[in-house]
Amino acid sequence: MSLERPVRVAIVGAGPAGFFTADALLRLDSPRFEVDIFERLPTPFGLVRSGVAPDHQKIKGVTRTFEKTAKHQRFRFFGNVTIGRDLSHDELAAHYDQVVYAVGSSTDRRLGIPGEELMGCHAATAFVGWYNAHPDFRDFPFDLKVERAVVVGVGNVAIDIARVLLRDRGELARTDIAGLALAALEASTIHEVVLLARRGPAQAAFTAVELEDLTHLASIGVKVDPAQLQLDAAQLEALDVNSRRNVELMRKLAANPRETARTLRLEFLASPVELLDDGNGRVCGVKVERNELLGDKARGTGQFFELSAGLVFRSIGYFGEPIAGVPFDAKAGIIPNVEGRVTRTPGGEVVPHLYAVGWIRRSPIGVIGTNKADGQAVADRLVEDVAKLPAAPPRPESEMMALLAQRRIKVTSFHEWAKLDELEVAAGREKGKVREKFDTVTAMMNELLRSTPSN
Ligand code: NAP
Repeated sequence: MSLERPVRVAIVGAGPAGFFTADALLRLDSPRFEVDIFERLPTPFGLVRSGVAPDHQKIKGVTRTFEKTAKHQRFRFFGNVTIGRDLSHDELAAHYDQVVYAVGSSTDRRLGIPGEELMGCHAATAFVGWYNAHPDFRDFPFDLKVERAVVVGVGNVAIDIARVLLRDRGELARTDIAGLALAALEASTIHEVVLLARRGPAQAAFTAVELEDLTHLASIGVKVDPAQLQLDAAQLEALDVNSRRNVELMRKLAANPRETARTLRLEFLASPVELLDDGNGRVCGVKVERNELLGDKARGTGQFFELSAGLVFRSIGYFGEPIAGVPFDAKAGIIPNVEGRVTRTPGGEVVPHLYAVGWIRRSPIGVIGTNKADGQAVADRLVEDVAKLPAAPPRPESEMMALLAQRRIKVTSFHEWAKLDELEVAAGREKGKVREKFDTVTAMMNELLRSTPSN
């Protein structure tokens, strides 16, 4: 590692994976990294801001760590810039020594069953974005004036959705939930959310702590049929700690049903095979096939039942989206890579100076903290590869800024985000909320123009 000059790194995506990678690089004195994070929204923090549920404020506290990173003198935030649109990947790469994609998995997986296109059937990702005031989802037509919602999938996202739909509105009103979502929830008539699991309770993907959390909420009762929880002692013993805790907790819940205003029902060994049309293009129910387990795989039994539902969410995992000019594994929904070094194809040749980290590297699994180890590991690869960098620096930054200016892209800084942050917190305070988020980019940009006219 003989490079004398600073190493210029662009990280695309200002979520946890991007920030943890930046932090790992900036902790080093040698090589001396300069890190610029590009983000398509004027707001940073990715899924911490727009994925973590509003009633999980403790988890959101990780932003204080990211704010510390952002204060580093060799760190900069380039908000409101979409790589692959405002600036091509090649244009970006020409101005940096190394480029890291930390863009997460921004879309969802589909069920592939008839009726999925009906009104009232939505991706969990859209609903999560909507209640978190992500500008992309502000205008989604979520009609919560229905009796029952069905969520397909039993991961932590499914639990989040059920909790937000069922939780006491007064409690949600104190969080940073989107104003529009809170109003819709206040008018909601949903009294039951059914989570459909294609496999059994021992294979549930949610974490016991998330399920247990629900049991402490006065407004939500959890219902599960004890007949679906029959595992013998040996089967229970063979489970990992989380799955065993899940099953034990569900058994307790099944044995002590509570009368509550609203209910979360867990339905195991059940796969949706068709969404039913009310005759006007709206979903009115789900046709479900009863499954049996073959080893740990689900197999349909040919027995069906119907559940009425005015709202259906598919919560069967996130999926990555390609960026023009960057390799993409369309089957896995990730950027192909070996330990973070991007390859031209899955298992193919390494593309020099190009990296991926977080969900877009390893697929959408793991909690926020998982990205810390991932960020460190990928940062280590960048450090190792410094020796392969040319002695000559990349193209000057002034050229990149000129390109952005020519394209009328108003780049926002971390300082400007801090201004928006302050305004959101102040607007929230007036309503007794943690914050009232801006839910359109236009509103954010107008506010910045108003408060910092010189920028
Ligand atoms: P997930 O944990 O992967 O769960 C996906 C669920 O969808 C599983 O139950 C899976 O069942 C089911 N599924 C997949 N394909 C299906 C199909 N075709 N038909 C029916 N069911 C299907 O995904 P997630 O809930 O989106 O969460 C993503 C990651 O974020 C996870 O690591 C999660 O822990 C994390 N997260 C954490 C928190 C938190 O810590 N509070 C909150 C939200 C998310 P099978 O097991 O049978 O495939």
